[in-house]
Amino acid sequence: MNMSLTESKCNSGVKHIIFYSSGAASYVAAKMVVEKYGKDNCLLVFADTNIEDEDNYRFLYDGAFFLETELVVLKNKKTPWDIYEEKRFVNHRVSNCSMELKIKPCRKFVSSNFSATECVLYFGIDFNEYHRTEKITKNWEPYSVDYPLCWGDWVDRNQIFQTIKDDGLKPPRLYEYGFSHANCGGFCSKAGKKQFRKLLNHFPERYMYHEKRENQFLELISKQSGCIIREKGGTLTLKQFRERIESESMQSNSSDDFIGGCGCFIED
Ligand code: SF4
Repeated sequence: MNMSLTESKCNSGVKHIIFYSSGAASYVAAKMVVEKYGKDNCLLVFADTNIEDEDNYRFLYDGAFFLETELVVLKNKKTPWDIYEEKRFVNHRVSNCSMELKIKPCRKFVSSNFSATECVLYFGIDFNEYHRTEKITKNWEPYSVDYPLCWGDWVDRNQIFQTIKDDGLKPPRLYEYGFSHANCGGFCSKAGKKQFRKLLNHFPERYMYHEKRENQFLELISKQSGCIIREKGGTLTLKQFRERIESESMQSNSSDDFIGGCGCFIED
C-alpha cells in the first residue's frame, strides 16, 4: 500500500478524505465515497492507537485493497494507557485517548497537507448518530465535512455487513464475538462490564495487559479504586472484576448493565 502523499493530492480538484477506522461502518462509508468520486480522488486515513485487534489491521488493508484506494496510516508510538498516564486521568466521559491518538493526528495530517478548499472530509456515522453531525461539522471548520451513510435511505447494521460480505470481505472478528464496536481491540475506557467480560472471555491475555496497565496507572495516581469499570455505588478495578467473574462463574448473558460502545473519533 502506497502511504506517501506525493500522489495523494487530487490532480483535478478536491481530494475526498475518508476517516477509515478499520471498523465496518467506516468501510461502507469509504466505499460510497469511492464509488461516487472515483478511487483516484479519494484517500483513506487511519489513525493507529497501537492496540487494535490484529484482525482489524487485516480488514483495514483488505478494505483499502478492494477499494483500490490509497491508505495513509498515521502511526503513533503511544497507546491509550500512555495517554492516561501522561494526563494522569482517565474517565468514561472524557476520551483523552481518542483526542490524542485519533483526532489530533488526523487534524494535523489534514491541515498539513490540504487547505480547506482542497479536500472534503468524510465520517462513517449513520442516522443513529445524526444528531452529532452539527457539532462535528462545526468542530472541523473551515473544512467541509460529509456523512455518506446519511446520504440516502437508512443504512442499518445488517446492510453494512451485507455490503462487506458482497464485496467478498470478512469483517473484523470482534463483531463476530459480540463486541458492539471493533475499536482498540475490544478495550475501551468508555466500555461497560459486558464488554470487559467479553474481553476476558475472548482475549484473556489482552485483558491481563489492561489489568496490569490499570494497576500501574492507579499506583501512579495513588488511587486504589478502579478507574474504568463502573457499577452501582462505585467502581471496580479490572482485577476485582476478573476475580469476581472467576469466583462466581458468571454467565455471559447475565444482567451486567451498559455494554458500552465507542464513537470516540467523532467526538471533540
Ligand atoms: S475506542 Fe475507547 S479506548 Fe480506544 S481511543 Fe476510543 S475512547 Fe479511547
